[in-house]
Amino acid sequence: MKKYNFNAGPSILPREVIEATAKQILDFNGSGLSLMEISHRAKDFQPVVDEAVALTKEILDIPEGYSVIFLGGGASLEFCMIPYNFLEKKAAYLNTGVWAKKALKEAKLFGETVEVASSADANYTYIPKGWTCPTDVDYLHITTNNTIYGTEIRKDLDVPVPMIADMSSDIFSRPVDVKKYKCIYAGAQKNLAMAGVTIVIVKDDELGKVSRTIPTMLDYRTHVEKGSMFNTPPVVPIYSALETLRWIKKSGGVEEMDRRAKERAEMLYAEIDRNKMFRGTVAAEDRSLMNLCFVMADEYKELEKDFMDFATSQGMVGVKGHRSVGGFRASCYNAQPLEGVKALVACMKEFESKH
Ligand SMILES: *Cc1c(COP(=O)(O)O)cnc(C)c1O
Repeated sequence: MKKYNFNAGPSILPREVIEATAKQILDFNGSGLSLMEISHRAKDFQPVVDEAVALTKEILDIPEGYSVIFLGGGASLEFCMIPYNFLEKKAAYLNTGVWAKKALKEAKLFGETVEVASSADANYTYIPKGWTCPTDVDYLHITTNNTIYGTEIRKDLDVPVPMIADMSSDIFSRPVDVKKYKCIYAGAQKNLAMAGVTIVIVKDDELGKVSRTIPTMLDYRTHVEKGSMFNTPPVVPIYSALETLRWIKKSGGVEEMDRRAKERAEMLYAEIDRNKMFRGTVAAEDRSLMNLCFVMADEYKELEKDFMDFATSQGMVGVKGHRSVGGFRASCYNAQPLEGVKALVACMKEFESKH
């Protein structure tokens, strides 16, 4: 049976990215060796990194003066690398969910922090509004898409200080005004690549400003200076990222990714709002286009497991909501075809007609 992958992460990738990567795993560029067994210093691998960097800059229209690096450790390691490299005196954090909170927790180890606003009071079902950002901070940290709760800040905020953003689950899904950011980072396994690599976009002249000593591996300058080749980078994940970047470019870039995301989300949210058996969980204006969360309407609460089983029987994979929200979460990253959303909507309609 055809499977529709709604996993939150690691998650769906374009089929052609998987096939192209598989081919290189069997025989890298006709060398007779696998991509898994070549040296990262092999002459054929440097062009992979170079092209991935160049495509990232082109696709996101990154201005001069920024570097793109590929690291290990996941977005979670960035939670500490960010304050290590950028927090001199004070940093501001917008608390929109568990990932934002984890980032803030690490920052507290390095200096003074200000939580500019939080939506913890309502289990992070909205994006706080009407807060002000202090002007005496080194940066404002935001999480643009809250993967667990299904809220998203789908625009580049206007604040008086440079931002740092965790874009793990919505990078490359819309155009971004990169010059508003000191640094953008993303664990690649949501919208870019197989698990194992983190992409970091960093403004060069913001580096080296803190007075503390930074361990070599945690200093962004190390990786910028060595072009992600200071130590062995995750070779296969970087290759898969390159294939996704080629796919994004060929498909029409981030404008087209944005259009597709809106099309998918409009269709699914319309059904969530129409179908009497379901309701959305977050404030309508803050709904994520990437992770669409919904639960059974109160009168149908006891049918949650039945719907889960029915959806599974129809080929839906990964629609179970995160344990802290419950219900369902349909993750619709770049590679999610409209057909996947249509199949899920058909499931919801059919379930409704049966009850
Ligand atoms: C998944 C996720 C993370 C954690 O990523 P790892 O690569 O597993 O460390 C951080 N932030 C956001 C927004 C995420 O979705």
